[in-house]
Amino acid sequence: MYDYLIVGAGLYGATMARRLTDAGKKVLVIDKRDTIAGNVYTKKIEGINVHIYGAHIFHTNNKRVWDYVNKFAVFNRFTNSPVANYKGELYSLPFNMYTFNKMWGVVTPDEAKERIEAQKKEAGITEPKNLEEQAISLVGKDIYEKLIKGYTEKQWGRKCCELPSFIIKRLPVRLTFDNNYFNALYQGIPIGGYTKMVENMLEGVEVKLGVDFLKDREGLEAKADKVIYTGPIDEFYDYKLGTLEYRSVRFENEILDIPNFQGNAAVNYTDSETPFTRIIEHKWFEFGKDEEGNDLPKTVISREYSSEWKKGDEPYYPVNDEKNSKLSEEYKALAGKEDKVIFGGRLGEYKYYDMDAVILSALTKADSIVGED
Ligand SMILES: Cc1cc2nc3c(=O)[nH]c(=O)nc-3n(C[C@H](O)[C@H](O)[C@H](O)COP(=O)(O)OP(=O)(O)OC[C@H]3O[C@@H](n4cnc5c(N)ncnc54)[C@H](O)[C@@H]3O)c2cc1C
Repeated sequence: MYDYLIVGAGLYGATMARRLTDAGKKVLVIDKRDTIAGNVYTKKIEGINVHIYGAHIFHTNNKRVWDYVNKFAVFNRFTNSPVANYKGELYSLPFNMYTFNKMWGVVTPDEAKERIEAQKKEAGITEPKNLEEQAISLVGKDIYEKLIKGYTEKQWGRKCCELPSFIIKRLPVRLTFDNNYFNALYQGIPIGGYTKMVENMLEGVEVKLGVDFLKDREGLEAKADKVIYTGPIDEFYDYKLGTLEYRSVRFENEILDIPNFQGNAAVNYTDSETPFTRIIEHKWFEFGKDEEGNDLPKTVISREYSSEWKKGDEPYYPVNDEKNSKLSEEYKALAGKEDKVIFGGRLGEYKYYDMDAVILSALTKADSIVGED
């Protein structure tokens, strides 16, 4: 008998497992995959930690979460500074003085501000009716056309003039030479990869992989007093109220016989002709790879294609629209009536969580079960 059966060895499940085990509870973690770490799983290929379910950059302003993850990994000093490639022209992201200098040749913040203001004025949009008008009214036509339009249309599979304006509420414009994408106090990548970090979190915890909870629900439930379920909430209820939708991403991985493909972890392709949205070169998330002397002769890249999600595909991003929000609320009402099962994490709550947020959510839930650590 276990006190807790934790379904899912992702960050939510691993955080819970650690806290409950440390509080003296007997815990069993299962995952239907053959790997731990859920979607932050990294696999070593050609000596490089490859982010198999999409690039993950840890960033947070929460000291408790930062201190917590640092118990299980040493983080490197990676700073997310993506580059935009528009038909061979390279621009710095997020929009900052390097971007404006490349776009218009302007040198001072005042000159950049003047350009943006002039373009906004020229567009003459007071009440944006769609995403295109919203973006132009915020940053002007040049940035919209070269850096926003193609990328956004590929991401959503629809024209910007057909997308609602609320998707882009604001666009950060920095009048400084700052390429750091995240405004976070703490940022980095765990040295040795996320899988190693989660392995450390699960040290001394019983873990069984390749076990699908829903295939033997009764047998597994009987083994524990309580269940913490981090799988899809609609699947738990056999989709009886309907299917929650996701946006999906397809990754095309390639090993190249060259030490350096693009010189940066992320390059976004912002034109509409290139079919993928971006290319990730995984070795640049880690330091000490090819900085000097090309110590690794190969590199691994992933092209990312935004794709429509259908049942059976890997669920990535919850769809933030009225239909799905309403349905997820209905499922959550059912979940609220369970006395043995606690739902958590991005799939269990049908909620987009960054890694720090999902860890905080698990820590907070664990506090309510075993008290603060
Ligand atoms: C493409 C992409 C990029 C991202 N990039 C970032 C980033 O850069 N920075 C950031 O902070 N966050 C990022 N995130 C968010 C991050 O991935 C999540 O915060 C995190 O993975 C959530 O952890 P989780 O434990 O809730 O879910 P998951 O990691 O999905 O874990 C759930 C686990 O439950 C298992 N499971 C499901 N059903 C069952 C079942 N029936 N039986 C047994 N096991 C089951 C699954 O196999 C899975 O392992 C990104 C997300 C995506 C989609």
